[in-house]
Amino acid sequence: MHELGVTFYVIKDVKKVAEENNVKQIDYVTLEIGEVSGVIHEQLIDCWNWARKKEEVTQNAELKIDTLEAITFCEDCKGEYRTVDHGKICPYCGSDKTYLLRGNEFNIKEIGIYDDN
Ligand SMILES: [Zn+2]
Repeated sequence: MHELGVTFYVIKDVKKVAEENNVKQIDYVTLEIGEVSGVIHEQLIDCWNWARKKEEVTQNAELKIDTLEAITFCEDCKGEYRTVDHGKICPYCGSDKTYLLRGNEFNIKEIGIYDDN
């Protein structure tokens, strides 16, 4: 995934939500990113810290990332296992008839302002 493209996508969404809610500045944005989504967190944060300054609404917004564990399902033995540890081959039965249950997510979980008052 292209981190800069993702960053602009997030900022666009944040702007829209802020406008809808009459919020001038956002304090933080929390993303949910799956372990195997291909997004490199350090690069995403670098992009964010550069791009956020271009918009008034995001210029002070901190980026938070929640990592979601990737899980793969085996069709042969119906087992579930951690994708990062074992890849496409089932550790229980050795089958390669497996598919990703979750871990490919990229969601905006929360767009927030700190309540100082
Ligand atoms: Zn299996």
